[in-house]
Amino acid sequence: MKTKLLYHENSYTFECSAKVVAVEGDEIALDATVFYPGGGGQMADRGIISWNDQHEQANVIAMNKRNDVVWHTIDCTPPAIGTEVVGSIDWEFRYQMMRTHTALHILCGIIWKEYGVQVTGGQMYPDHARMDFSMENLDRERIAIIEQKVNEAIEADYPIHVYALPREKAFAIPDLVRTKINLLPPEIEEVRIVEIVGLDLQADGGTHVNHTREVGGIKVTRTENKGRINKRLEIMLLDAPDYE
Ligand SMILES: [Zn+2]
Repeated sequence: MKTKLLYHENSYTFECSAKVVAVEGDEIALDATVFYPGGGGQMADRGIISWNDQHEQANVIAMNKRNDVVWHTIDCTPPAIGTEVVGSIDWEFRYQMMRTHTALHILCGIIWKEYGVQVTGGQMYPDHARMDFSMENLDRERIAIIEQKVNEAIEADYPIHVYALPREKAFAIPDLVRTKINLLPPEIEEVRIVEIVGLDLQADGGTHVNHTREVGGIKVTRTENKGRINKRLEIMLLDAPDYE
C-alpha cells in the first residue's frame, strides 16, 4: 500500500479526488493526497475531506505518515474503504507555510554563503519561523546584514527547482553532504532535491514556492543564545521586502 504524494508533484495543488484504501480507528488512508503530513520543521496541513457528493464531510484534524502511507485523522465516522472522496487543504495556511519554508532556505543559503556556518535545526509556523545555526558571534551588525541579504535574494526572484536524484549522485554533492542527507534511511533510493539555483541546495520533503519573490520579505524579530556556538534567529514574514 502506497499513497501518491501529490504535494510532492506540485505544491500548488490544493484539492484532489481519491479513494479510501484503509481505515484505522479515526484515521483514513487514501490512494493519493494533497495533504502534507508534517515533518522537516513544516507543520501538517489541515482541511476537509468530503464524499457522497459533498453531502458528508469531515475535518482533517491531524496527519501521520507511516512508511509509504499518509493517514488523515478525521473528526467523524470514517467513510468505508473504497469510497471516492475529495480532499481539500486549507490553502491559505499551506501557502503561508510554503512562503515561510522557502524563506528558511534562503536564510540557510545566505548564512552559509556569508559566514560558512551550518544550520542545526528549524521550525516554521504560518507567519514566522526560527532557525538554529552554529555561530559564535551573532551581533547586531551581522543580523542587519543577514536580513538585508535575505530580502535582496527574495527581490532577485530566484527560481526554485524540485527534482529527484539517485542516492549515489546526491551523496556526491558537497553542498548536500553538509546538510542532514546522511540521516536519510538507507532504503531510500532517490533523494528529493530542492534547489534555489545559485543560493541553496537541500534534500527535502517539504513544500515550497516556485520563485523567491513569492516570499514577500522577512524581518528578524528575535535572536537567542542557545550555547556558545549555537544561535537562534526568529523571522517574521512580510508581504513585501522592508529595508527601512
Ligand atoms: Zn524545504
